[in-house]
Amino acid sequence: MRALLRKMLNRAGDFIDFRVPADGPPPDRFGRFLAWALRGGWPVIWIGITISILSGATEVLSIYLLGAIVDAVDTTEANFLADHAGIIILSVVVLLIVRPLLFGGLAITQSVMIAPNIFSQVLARLFRWTLGQSVTFFDNDFAGRIAQKQVQASTSLTEIVVETVNAITFGLATVLGTAFLLGSISPWMLLVFAGWFASYLGFLAVMLPRIRRRAAARAEAKAMVSGQVVDTISNVKTVKLFAQAQHEDDKALGAMGDLRERALEFGEVQTLFRFGLIFIAGVLPIALVTMAVALRSSGISPGDVAATGAVAIRLAQMTGWISFTLMGIYSHVGEVQDGINTLAPPDRIYDKDQAHALVVPAAAIRFDDVAFSYGRQSGGIDRVSLDIPAGQKLALVGASGAGKSTLVSLLLRIYDPERGKICIDGQDIAEVTQESLRAQIGMVTQDTAMFNRTAFDNIRYGRPDASLDEVIEAAKKAEAHEFIVGLEDHKGRKGYDAYLGERGVKLSGGQRQRIALARVILKDAPILVLDEATSALDSEVEAAIQDTLGRMMDGKTVIAIAHRLSTIAQLDRIVVLNDGRIIEDGSHRALSGMNGAYARFWDRQSGGFLATAEAAE
Ligand code: ADP
Repeated sequence: MRALLRKMLNRAGDFIDFRVPADGPPPDRFGRFLAWALRGGWPVIWIGITISILSGATEVLSIYLLGAIVDAVDTTEANFLADHAGIIILSVVVLLIVRPLLFGGLAITQSVMIAPNIFSQVLARLFRWTLGQSVTFFDNDFAGRIAQKQVQASTSLTEIVVETVNAITFGLATVLGTAFLLGSISPWMLLVFAGWFASYLGFLAVMLPRIRRRAAARAEAKAMVSGQVVDTISNVKTVKLFAQAQHEDDKALGAMGDLRERALEFGEVQTLFRFGLIFIAGVLPIALVTMAVALRSSGISPGDVAATGAVAIRLAQMTGWISFTLMGIYSHVGEVQDGINTLAPPDRIYDKDQAHALVVPAAAIRFDDVAFSYGRQSGGIDRVSLDIPAGQKLALVGASGAGKSTLVSLLLRIYDPERGKICIDGQDIAEVTQESLRAQIGMVTQDTAMFNRTAFDNIRYGRPDASLDEVIEAAKKAEAHEFIVGLEDHKGRKGYDAYLGERGVKLSGGQRQRIALARVILKDAPILVLDEATSALDSEVEAAIQDTLGRMMDGKTVIAIAHRLSTIAQLDRIVVLNDGRIIEDGSHRALSGMNGAYARFWDRQSGGFLATAEAAE
């Protein structure tokens, strides 16, 4: 029985496919965003709405039946059961069969068909869209905040749909059913009910915006408090070093005091709202029953009075529930809009319509009069032309801010140049797909974060179809195999199955680096970009990695942002950048002999570059 039920629920859950991609980019207006996010999900929503309307109608139907039975009792002379079998059987059928089926169906549509599918669908669409945003988009925001907005917007949108189907449609069906029931008793009753309903809506229209304003102010104050606390805690060393605990405490208390004020203001309006609601709810039974009694002389039956009273009390009870649901929907709309504001504005690099896949038979790279300054007046790189023949190993050298990373980012097409073009084997990289471009470039950076996945998966990221043997071979080449075999995470998973990353095994900088190298070795791309950045590995690890790097570079075109002599010594050519321009270009021997910027730069940086250079030779 349970297996059958499980099977039925699974079937119902598969009614729509949440993986169906969205149609174009997410619109920035709420209504259109809703259509974008829900496209494909409407069948289950409509089923939900229909069942909800029918369920709402049975609320009133039950009450109508109650009235009919009261009248039946009133008018019965001989045998109650025999005289009124029809109405009695109907009541039993409605209460014991129709209603359970409808409300069960409502639960299925809501929690099996709608909620899980709509949530996954919206989140999948937002996630896909966001992944395509440019690196700049992520640079300008905290990763955590972006992820939170995606989940928040999807959760809120799902809530809006579920609550609209569950409460709002249900409520409206009940209200319409009540109007119908009362209208059938007397037009006066309908009039009283319409007047009451109008004032209820008026009350909501006045109160909801106020509640929302104050809720927003409270949320803002809350964010300030957590911002303040997080800021202090994450800088706790500085706080202690400067003995500023008192100052931080004052600041936090200030923010908390403000939050308390806003919370009180919210509480105030919330109290008024509840008071008003219960008052208005109380008016309905009094008004309707008074009216019914007043109309008694004009032929209203005791059953009508009973039904009127029952429906009035049922609606009065519902007002609270519906009002708070509306309040919830109202704030969910705000949260979805907030998500839209952060996530929807496009900030991305598009592939051209006719973009083809990059083909790299040789891997010659050419920068042709390339300029890029991050949309500003200065910074970045300024009209750089650079021809890198296939197989050449080139070092980019220069002070911090000289433009080395910018040059590399342009090659990876993380940005599009503002001027000039970059070609690989004669193909302009702006004309090829970004995926095919990045597939041909292996990048080794100093600080590589690990995914919270197994060591095996982390390495295989370089080539998702690689076998375990290939992964192990790459790890061996990267000098990583030995320590991986000895890994064990806190759940006892060992070796290549151990989890890495934030919640897995904590690796040292050198170990992370070697995993990253293995990943790139596995990728085996014809172009290699090394970014030494400013890291400091211990010298033993560095020596091991240098050997690996040397082997990795074999037969590839290499661009290395290099600081270390040990790296530079392995390379064919050195390009010195200064303020975004190339100022020197030649072999290590030629440039150090020139006594120009390269020689001076190293002299300063390493406290006697030439001496070190000589020692290395
Ligand atoms: P390097 O890698 O040589 O240290 P960069 O390429 O990072 O130099 O920076 C070159 C110049 O571009 C610097 O003047 C820097 O201020 C500017 N720059 C770098 N990144 C950005 C950015 N994301 N937005 C604006 N300007 C930037």
